[in-house]
Amino acid sequence: MTGRPRLETLRVDAARLENDLAELARIGRSDDLPGLDRRAFTPADMEGRAWLHEKLEAAGLAVRVDGAANLGARWPASLDGPCVMTGSHLDTVRGAGRLDGALGVVAGLEAVRVLAEQGVPLARPVELVAFSDEEGRFGGMLGSQAMSGQLTPEAIDRAVDLDGVSLERAMAECGYNAHDALAAEREPHTIHAFVELHIEQGPVLERQSELIGLVDAITGLFRWDVRLVGEANHAGTTPMDMRRDAFRAAAEFASQIDRVLEEYGGPRSRATIGRIELVPGAANVVPGEARFALEVRDTDARTLAELAHAFRRTLSAIVRRRDLHFEFDVVSEIEPIACHERVMAAVSKACTTVGVSSFTLPSGAAHDTQMLARIAPAGMIFVPSRGGRSHSPAEWTAPADIERGANVLLQTLTELAR
Ligand SMILES: [Zn+2]
Repeated sequence: MTGRPRLETLRVDAARLENDLAELARIGRSDDLPGLDRRAFTPADMEGRAWLHEKLEAAGLAVRVDGAANLGARWPASLDGPCVMTGSHLDTVRGAGRLDGALGVVAGLEAVRVLAEQGVPLARPVELVAFSDEEGRFGGMLGSQAMSGQLTPEAIDRAVDLDGVSLERAMAECGYNAHDALAAEREPHTIHAFVELHIEQGPVLERQSELIGLVDAITGLFRWDVRLVGEANHAGTTPMDMRRDAFRAAAEFASQIDRVLEEYGGPRSRATIGRIELVPGAANVVPGEARFALEVRDTDARTLAELAHAFRRTLSAIVRRRDLHFEFDVVSEIEPIACHERVMAAVSKACTTVGVSSFTLPSGAAHDTQMLARIAPAGMIFVPSRGGRSHSPAEWTAPADIERGANVLLQTLTELAR
């Protein structure tokens, strides 16, 4: 076959890629906030979408927008059958850096553009998608949830942002009908494979001085809102042995986290209390109630289940001894996923083709890939993040790493689509 060696020498145009990232990084800037703000279905998000729309058209690609406002293009448009999909998100958190999400979309754009320009013969079409509201103005991963059939009409009706604006209204203001999102669902057999390029958002690759992260799993999590209930009392008149102090119970629980992880967790387990509130919350009152969020992550579903069990037992032992009681609500539960062998093998081969070293690691953050994995063989490619910084203007990846990551993405797509 004469096409074969040509495929392996395909590379992205690094200057064009860097230029695209710089252009996109100008959208969503404001004078009163460092970093970017392109939260979903805001004018800045719409401007980012318009920018991508224009780039795709300029590359001669037919733009596709589905019911969930996922935006992208497929090449060659004439080719039917299951596609090889890549994508990420254009929306950001408030005060974001320039790469989270944007890198995967812009590198995907560049990859599809290179394939189209070179007229590379492929057996399967390659499709780029920029997913809607990954960062969670309305809960998170809206577009990829819709595409993978996880969205319900009730969830659409319920979704509001922190200011009380409903998803329905925000989408309507941008010219979309939120309930059309249900029509974005794709049948599993229509996607041959999905791969997402993303910044690591953690310090592991930098520490290993490896160039590319080959992601083998995406962490799952559970998040509980816990309430420890004792009795509020006068801080001066209540003897120490007669208190039912909710904070000290919470503190004891926090001090047990390391032990629980050692006994029931694995090397990839994480547990965090990131928020705590005491009621009534006065310096001269023994707190009668402690409300806190417990978030636990792991890449293994069984380990997560065991940790949930162990944390529940620990809580109940502490409250029993201190004459309190506890209750908790499960706020969210996300199943961990394992990346697909076929996609991992393609990424690994692409690293060899491009001539870069790789390091296998899990993703500790949630990504659209997690949703797509429900309907398609899926995987991820990471590039190093300086200092592990993300969701911050300090987010930075060396241009050479960006170029390598984009080339690995391009080669992975051609490998899966040939
Ligand atoms: Zn992201």
